Amino acid sequence: LSPVTVRHNSHLIKSSIPDVNIPNVTIPEFIFKDFLKYPHKIAVECNVTGKKFTFEEILVKSRNLNSALRKKLKLTPGDIVAILLPNIPEYAICVLGSLLANLTVTTINPIYTPDEISRQLKDTEAKAIFTLTALAPLASASTKLANQSVPIITIKMQNTDSIPEGTHDLFQLVNTKLDIEDLPPCDTNDVAMLPYSSGTTGLPKGVQLTHRNIIANICQTNTSQLRLSSETSDQNQDVIPAILPFFHIFGMTGILFVHLHNLCKLVTLPKFSPEQFLHLFINHKPQVLIVVPSIVSLMANQPMVKKEYLQQIRVVFSGSAPLGIQDEEKLKSKVGNKTQIKQGYGLTETSPAVFMSSNRSINLGIRGTVGEIVPNTDIKLIKIDGSQQEINSPRELGEIFVKGPQVMKGYYKREEATKEVFDDGFFKTGDVAYYDENGMFFISERIKELIKVKGFQVAPAELEEILRNHPDLLEAGVIGVPHKQYGEVPRAYVVPKPNHKVDTDGVQRYVAEKVAKYKQLKGGIEIVDSIPKNTSGKILRNQLKKEYQKA
Ligand code: AMP
Repeated sequence: LSPVTVRHNSHLIKSSIPDVNIPNVTIPEFIFKDFLKYPHKIAVECNVTGKKFTFEEILVKSRNLNSALRKKLKLTPGDIVAILLPNIPEYAICVLGSLLANLTVTTINPIYTPDEISRQLKDTEAKAIFTLTALAPLASASTKLANQSVPIITIKMQNTDSIPEGTHDLFQLVNTKLDIEDLPPCDTNDVAMLPYSSGTTGLPKGVQLTHRNIIANICQTNTSQLRLSSETSDQNQDVIPAILPFFHIFGMTGILFVHLHNLCKLVTLPKFSPEQFLHLFINHKPQVLIVVPSIVSLMANQPMVKKEYLQQIRVVFSGSAPLGIQDEEKLKSKVGNKTQIKQGYGLTETSPAVFMSSNRSINLGIRGTVGEIVPNTDIKLIKIDGSQQEINSPRELGEIFVKGPQVMKGYYKREEATKEVFDDGFFKTGDVAYYDENGMFFISERIKELIKVKGFQVAPAELEEILRNHPDLLEAGVIGVPHKQYGEVPRAYVVPKPNHKVDTDGVQRYVAEKVAKYKQLKGGIEIVDSIPKNTSGKILRNQLKKEYQKA
């Protein structure tokens, strides 16, 4: 390989990895393709309950669910179904069965409050919800708030759980194939997945990812230069923990889809805890770990994660938020040279992968890089000084613009928001980066509003809306501030209504009732006289950030 492998075509930066072929098939066709090579190998197993399914079982149960969703629940192609589940083995069946029925799947964080869930249910007008028996009350409270009445399909975590009245038992739906004609596969440009992301600005929006977007990203990241898992054979099957939630695209494409396709064994962790994490190492001896920086930090810094537990790990792959060089170095010295530490960068809107560590970046020994461009993808870096100029040399900072088959179709029912994030066919990421002489990329900062707490999205606009509805508050502005363990946490600046006294503890509790725990205002609340805004009323969050840094 020549030392300088940055390929330019005018100002476009191209991958050094040759383009790959993207088959024109749907997600289930692609995932199931080789399932019957090893019908009896375990595909997914729960780290907590030990419940497991073979590849053949996933295939048969997904097909049965497809028939039941159409015949019993009367769902029709194009309908949207919601999955409100932690990572459990049945997740795979719910997604793949729904996609076989040509439905669109929207995924929801199961620790959301009814307020948060109902917003997504309303926006998508979901026609059915998959959830745990234990979460059925949460699902029905959310549907009531959304003013909807839809079938709830429940799954028992333990065999001793009982099916709540008025809900459908998934177990029953997947155990018989109903007599209904199979559907022909849908158009690969139809929307398959609808995860939610706030993108560059505003409230969370449905990100329309087509079958083709996802298949493209599986193929782009599964080349010999980039792939994380090894080939499955009679003797060999990589074990991969499914710790990152499937409701997020990193967990969905990066863990579930890619590694079911590669016939690996996934071990699902419904809820992260250091104890369960250790249990997983000791009992399942995984070869590949796909995680977020806060987990790398835990592995690097906690003595309870002993060296000997990490012996068989070949690759640790971190994405979704910046990985501190110190944590990377510490983990490297703990696991030794036989374990590769890799990174990736991406977004919900790009299915998600855009940059990934490659064999080449590992051989070059470059630290702190998110790797090189995945194939079939063009990148432009645009100067952030307002000149809109394209950068055409290494080590200059610019906003990342992406064009490729993994880029979303658009935001669901949000034409304006979609237009705003596209520029001449390129998707504007709101992230700033540079590349080096070898074509390796380094993320420098985020210039959009989005806050990331332990890799999870927090939209300032969502918290500001909640704060504005507090009876004592007139206005609010929310920013992310650095946090040692979580990466970032949200911090609020609030303006009281005239003659109202504000009790910040009370405001904390008020917000805590309405949002998932990681969105709470752990960065604090500050009472101010006004929120800085531009002439069109847009909150100048950068100014708040500067003031925070000064203080
Ligand atoms: P999401 O849509 O939740 O995947 O969030 C996407 C955002 O996460 C990106 O726009 C980045 O700001 C951030 N991000 C993802 N991967 C990385 C990474 N490796 N380093 C730094 N930031 C990242």
